[in-house]
Formats: sequence, structure tokens, C-alpha cells
Amino acid sequence: MSIVTDALVLKVTDTGESDRLLYLLTADYGVIRAFANRASKSKSNMQAASQTLCYGEFNIYSGRDTYTVNSAVVKEVFFDLRKDIRLLALGQYFCSLAYELIPEGEPAPDSLRVILNSLSFLQSGRRSPEFLKAVTELKLISLAGYAPDLSGCAVCGESPAGEVLFSPSQGRFTCKTCSKYGRVISPGVLTAMKHITMSELGRIYSFRLSEQDEKLLEKISEEYLLARTGKTYKALEFYKSVST
Ligand SMILES: [Zn+2]
Repeated sequence: MSIVTDALVLKVTDTGESDRLLYLLTADYGVIRAFANRASKSKSNMQAASQTLCYGEFNIYSGRDTYTVNSAVVKEVFFDLRKDIRLLALGQYFCSLAYELIPEGEPAPDSLRVILNSLSFLQSGRRSPEFLKAVTELKLISLAGYAPDLSGCAVCGESPAGEVLFSPSQGRFTCKTCSKYGRVISPGVLTAMKHITMSELGRIYSFRLSEQDEKLLEKISEEYLLARTGKTYKALEFYKSVST
């Protein structure tokens, strides 16, 4: 059976002289691994399509145990990210998040759109890497079914106007009078977290924060993602190593 779906290449490994294994985030089938034969008839086509951060429409043969790419129409390669190792590292971190968070076989059009939009903003330089990292982490983990509960204080249920205490391990916040534990977050950061997790996809990038709040949002989003997934990410460590 052949399937046609939009997909982003998350990772590529060489499997032989002419074959490559592509890790694809597809709109219709989540994350799948598909073989791509560089020596196939659509040679030039596959050369372009079988590289990391290439986005396009993929025609894939679905066999009993394996997927094989028949052909692909490249729509975007995000090539300019390669000019800046820091931006490229962050793009690759987004890819590793997709690989960890999105299961095989389930449609993932929203997650694909978030990553494509973030890569596009990253490449254009219109929003800072810190901002895009926070938005992408928080939205992807929410789409995976682990959105933090920001509806009100975990103890009294109220929504206080001032600073609150957020617990990354519990994904809840409390008033400062209801608990002593958690990271202090400003009203601006709490509003931003609500905006990212609850807004429709087209609006999640539509807000601004002070530089200080943007840094705090980035820290909180990462802590929450790491606490929820219980994993470490080599791509994140690499991004940090080239960011200092
Ligand atoms: Zn309270």
C-alpha cells in the first residue's frame, strides 16, 4: 500500500552504500522510520529529500514491517539554520522532542505544524531562540497529553493576581500563601504559559514578554518538560554547550 503524507525529516542514518533510514514526523502516521534508496530512479529528488530538516510531501510504500520512500516533493529545507550552529542545534532539539513525544501510527498534524512554525521563526530570526524553545517545549508536551494544570491554585482553587509558585514535577501552581514550595513565577509568565497551552495553534507565538520573564519562561518550560518526560536529551545538552 502506498501512502502520501506531509512529513519532516527528523534524523537520517546511513544503512548501506546507497540506502538511508529516515526518521519522519508525518502528519498522518506520527513518527515513522522509512528507508530511502538514493540510487532509485528519482535520484536527485531523493538526495534533497533525505536530509535532516527537509519538509515535503512524501509518497511512501507501507510494507508488512517496513516503510520505503517512493518519492518526495520538497517544500522547504530550512537550509539557513546551518549557517548558525546554535540555531541548527535548537532545530535538532525540536526534532528529538518530536521523536520522543509522538507515537507511531497516530496522526500528528498539530505537532508537525508547531515544529514547522518554530523552525520557520527560528530561521527568519523574527523571534529569539529562548522564546521559540519555550513555546515549542510547552506546546509539544501539551499536545502529547501532558499539559500543566494552570486553571487555579492547586490548594484553594483561586487565581491570585501576583506571583505564584509553580511545581515542575506536579505541573501545578499554588498561591504563595497556600504553599512554600515551587519556583516563583511572575503573573506575566503564568499568563504566557496559559496562552501557549490553551490557545489555538495559529496564536501561540502572539505574545511578548520582558527579557527577564522570557528567560524565566524558558527555564520553567524546560524544567517542566524534563520532569514530565523523565528523560535527558543529548540535543538539548549540545544546544546549551553552544549557547554559552
Ligand atoms: Zn491558593
